[in-house]
Amino acid sequence: MKIGIIGGGFAGLTAAYDLLKAGHQVTVFEAAPQVGGLASGFKAPGWDWSLERFYHHIFTTDADIIALAKAIGAEDLLFFNQQNTAFFCPEHGAHAVTTLGILRYPHLPFLDRIRFGVSGLQLKLRNDWQRLERITAEQHMTRWAGKRAYQELWQPLFDGKFGPYASQVNAAWIWARGKSRSFKLGYFKGGFQAFADALAAYVSKIGGSLKLNAPVQRLEQIDGGWRVFTNGVEDQFDRVIVASAPGVLMKLAPELPAEYTDKLKLLKSIGAVVMVATLKQPLLTNGVYWLNITKGALPFLALVEHTNMIPARHYGGDRVIYCGDYLPTDHRYFTMSDEDVTNEWLASLKTANPNFDPSWVKQTWLFREAYAQPIVPLNHSRNLPSLRTPLDGLFFASMNHVYPWDRGTNFAVELGHRVAREVASSGVTA
Ligand SMILES: Cc1cc2nc3c(=O)[nH]c(=O)nc-3n(C[C@H](O)[C@H](O)[C@H](O)COP(=O)(O)OP(=O)(O)OC[C@H]3O[C@@H](n4cnc5c(N)ncnc54)[C@H](O)[C@@H]3O)c2cc1C
Repeated sequence: MKIGIIGGGFAGLTAAYDLLKAGHQVTVFEAAPQVGGLASGFKAPGWDWSLERFYHHIFTTDADIIALAKAIGAEDLLFFNQQNTAFFCPEHGAHAVTTLGILRYPHLPFLDRIRFGVSGLQLKLRNDWQRLERITAEQHMTRWAGKRAYQELWQPLFDGKFGPYASQVNAAWIWARGKSRSFKLGYFKGGFQAFADALAAYVSKIGGSLKLNAPVQRLEQIDGGWRVFTNGVEDQFDRVIVASAPGVLMKLAPELPAEYTDKLKLLKSIGAVVMVATLKQPLLTNGVYWLNITKGALPFLALVEHTNMIPARHYGGDRVIYCGDYLPTDHRYFTMSDEDVTNEWLASLKTANPNFDPSWVKQTWLFREAYAQPIVPLNHSRNLPSLRTPLDGLFFASMNHVYPWDRGTNFAVELGHRVAREVASSGVTA
């Protein structure tokens, strides 16, 4: 079959890889000048590695992306390290997130600390996420870890990550995070962009056609296939996969029947605003890579000192930090100027390190993304639209489809495999 894939993120590229291996002809259309989607990166002068616009790492448990790296001969790019994670609130300062750290956490009665630990272990050992999606994470954690532990440790994370949707998130989300995450974190030499480029090069090597700066403007169903319109050019395919956000599919295929678009409209998500800054010296001097911030303590949710994970020499000796938050797209940070958001956030860094001085800052970048984190409400699995749309030959794979797992590059790869299987089987006649 002749297959067009819209979106050169990890889902689209993986689907391209599988379908080419199965003997099909594949063209990938990517709107951006580079592949990689949400995990793509940029390189400032003097850096020898790319840096993600949005902080990224993988886990030792991320079997699909690790297997893909091996399959394309790029496993040498991948490495894993133990990293320090902590959480920060004004009263308690930074506090390590380790079993021992939680057991020593002085601001929670000892019994609650034990309950917190047991509730985490209990989730890790369970496999019945289907039952967990019937109750909210708040109900589940309050029942198992206790109200106080929930309010102290989980609620700040939920409020920060899901904002107004925090109380709607189901308990399967928290199960999936615990189940799929390791303490060791992985990264690619050269950044995630280097791995995305290696995958794109492999896709080209095995016969795929890759079109960058190629935003698809319109799809048109024709007898037995689809016309794809990009930059005034028209291509024809037997099958088309839209490997991107629900809004992209709705715009490209407005003739989708209401019972399908109703499901698309039910998919809620939240946006992200992330500032990257290069500094002349470290900000988190205790070696912490990831600092979760209690909502309100600083004007963002996470402070990530990337160069506490990756040596600064790959970025010309600069220290690299990310400040990031998940926000609805009507939040003021989506309409304020880059400069205003940056100034507000930089001014708050003294709270994290009282010695911080604005003269440490060398350069800043601000990135915003509307479709950054799917929201998973009660019984979410029942509301997910199928990968095969009701329109013949049109398929859809989005970050929402990795449920019950939380969005991530590993699950984008797994989704790419899954949608490729659906497409391939749609070409088999009895
Ligand atoms: C703040 C943040 C932090 C994250 N942290 C991590 C992390 O630590 N680890 C991890 O593994 N994952 C992380 N993720 C998630 C990860 O980036 C995504 O799950 C993954 O990249 C999704 O891949 P995808 O291919 O499904 O979609 P995307 O990467 O969104 O790819 C979709 C592509 O479609 C293209 N496109 C859209 N419209 C069109 C059009 N009309 N024509 C052509 N092309 C089009 C887009 O340009 C894009 O490249 C993070 C995401 C965010 C936002």
